[in-house]
Amino acid sequence: MNEQTANQTSQVTTPTQQPPTFSEIYQSSITQPQEFWAQQAKRIYWHKEPEQILDDSNLPFAKWFVGGETNLCYNCVDRYLPERAEQDAFIWLSSEVNQELIATFPAVVDAFNDLGNNVEFYTDYTKRRLTYNDLYKEVNYFADVLQRNGIRHGDRVVIYMPMILEATYAMLACARIGAIHSVVFGGFAAHNLAIRMDDAEAKMIITVDAGLRGGKVINYKSLVNQGIEQATVKPEHVLVVDRGILPFKPQPLDVDYATERSISRNANAIVEPVWIESNEPSYLLYTSGTTGTPKGVQRDTGGHAVALATSMDYIYDGQAGETFWAISDIGWAVGHSYMVYAPLLAGMTSVVYEGLPHRPNPGIWWRIVEANKVNILFTAPTGVRMLKKQDETWMTRYDVSSVKSFFLAGEPLDESTAQWLKQHLGVPILDHYWQTESGWPILSNTPKFNHKPHKQGSPGYPMYGYDAHVINEETGEPCAAGEKGLLAIRAPLPPGCLTTVWRNDERFISSYYSLFDGKQYSTSDYAVVDEDGYFHILGRTDDVINVAGHRLGTQEIEEAISTHPEMAECAVVGIHDELKGELPIAFCVLRDQALVATTENRFRLEQQIIGAVVKSLGGIARPAAVYFPPALPKTRSGKILRRAIRALAEGRPTGDMSTLDNPAAIDAVKQAMKDY
Ligand code: ATP
Ligand code: MG
Repeated sequence: MNEQTANQTSQVTTPTQQPPTFSEIYQSSITQPQEFWAQQAKRIYWHKEPEQILDDSNLPFAKWFVGGETNLCYNCVDRYLPERAEQDAFIWLSSEVNQELIATFPAVVDAFNDLGNNVEFYTDYTKRRLTYNDLYKEVNYFADVLQRNGIRHGDRVVIYMPMILEATYAMLACARIGAIHSVVFGGFAAHNLAIRMDDAEAKMIITVDAGLRGGKVINYKSLVNQGIEQATVKPEHVLVVDRGILPFKPQPLDVDYATERSISRNANAIVEPVWIESNEPSYLLYTSGTTGTPKGVQRDTGGHAVALATSMDYIYDGQAGETFWAISDIGWAVGHSYMVYAPLLAGMTSVVYEGLPHRPNPGIWWRIVEANKVNILFTAPTGVRMLKKQDETWMTRYDVSSVKSFFLAGEPLDESTAQWLKQHLGVPILDHYWQTESGWPILSNTPKFNHKPHKQGSPGYPMYGYDAHVINEETGEPCAAGEKGLLAIRAPLPPGCLTTVWRNDERFISSYYSLFDGKQYSTSDYAVVDEDGYFHILGRTDDVINVAGHRLGTQEIEEAISTHPEMAECAVVGIHDELKGELPIAFCVLRDQALVATTENRFRLEQQIIGAVVKSLGGIARPAAVYFPPALPKTRSGKILRRAIRALAEGRPTGDMSTLDNPAAIDAVKQAMKDY
């Protein structure tokens, strides 16, 4: 395929040349997957065309676009040089790098000069723009630096960085030379880092002197040093991007990025992309660890590129030249797929934000949207719930009319939060559902197709390529409408989904395919399909409790509690009970903690909450206790750690807490139970 045909986005067309409807797209993806994906494959550039679209001879190990050779970085960057060289590829904004920080660490300004330019300093944030042409240069320098430091095709590189543009260069540069990146979320401690370094057998670590969170300086370099000490497999080099925050005194393994970059820059280094067979891994990424030890998800190359390019068009309706903002972290699947790869694959501009949702004030997100005319937004409910606790008038101070859709995923989006957001922001709010494993949405709405109206409380319906359905957990038989069951996907999964657990095929099978002869991928989430074909997620299989023989999803109870106007967020867990088996108990975080300052008020709120649950689910779901901690323990990705809360409620040790973000919440929960 030549460059020109590669750039034409081909569509599945009906004989009358009408654009296809979503139903037609979905049907063809399920009944004729090879034809469907062969069409979609034209969205990317192949150096060598695939010989076979799908090899499903060894399920559940599926291979897509066998024999095809491509390069993710080429598809994200080089391909757009002819048409979009001067368009912004990235807009970086940091509310952490403000005038106050610069006054304390003046070297931060020099560091920008050393690392590139186009920086605008404002009182409360710093902005940096990077065109496709700039990105092309930076990625080539970065790839050259990697090669000069011994990194080759197939080597693993751990990226442990905050939300700065150099992190995106690092990922794209790895992709360019066929190295496998493994981004470790910057909030993880040395121990988590060491485990991941060992699992990946990383040859290089890329990091920074320091990260910033809410004005607090985090010593990344020292965490890396500790991680290396704890790890069994030591890297050959540590490449350090010095931001000018903490003094950087290079140690034997350390390499200074600014010095290396200037060598590459003076040489005008260009690194030819390495053509990668479609099924070779592009990256490794660990799941959030909400239910247990994180799993190392392995992503392929060609399928990943095709899947993301297709999703950007069919699901998000993101078009070249538009601006996409995934308010997430580069260390999560959302950051990989929708901050870095997919927007660039589609020729869009992607916003990268370093900062919190409410700093310098709770209007920061909307101010960024207004100033940069963001077209599509994506975040997790946890950030929105944080805003819900703030002064609401911030929600309407800025013009957000550029936003076509605001997508949410990662956790159940309770109806009252969705409603609150819609009401105050006035843009379409769309829940959708996916996993680190899938890398792109499994269930969603499709604003592009006007397929079905969005239904509040549902993340939508199965996306093309996913033969997703709700089945009876014991028999594997499909459930009728309205009947609860396990959300499963018939193998093979579509392109872009995990191909295995890194160097652990057994764990891949035992985690996802142990039910029903390995023919069904288990999401480990319960769901129900309603009469109109909309799916509803009912919670994780771990979070179902059995009260006197009745199976209750804790999420249903949480949903009922969330209707209370004072609720910011809540978690319901089941605790052991001699008589009934299990009993639900509720932990409620209020928008204003002062509401439960007196015993009298607390009692009144408790009664209202219990009343709301009984009214919507009946007496069987009645919480045996309601506690009011000021915060709930969460994973680093902002998900409520119900397994920790359950352990606390039952007086057991909390177990593996390596993914816990806010240790203070553990004490808050304990204290709330004591106060009761
Ligand atoms: P681990 O698998 O390590 O326990 P995790 O499942 O939290 O961690 P992720 O891959 O980040 O790791 O999260 C995917 C999960 O998040 C889904 O399986 C589901 O439970 C939940 N989820 C994602 N989107 C939604 C949504 N829109 N509604 C409800 N739940 C969602
Ligand atoms: Mg999971």
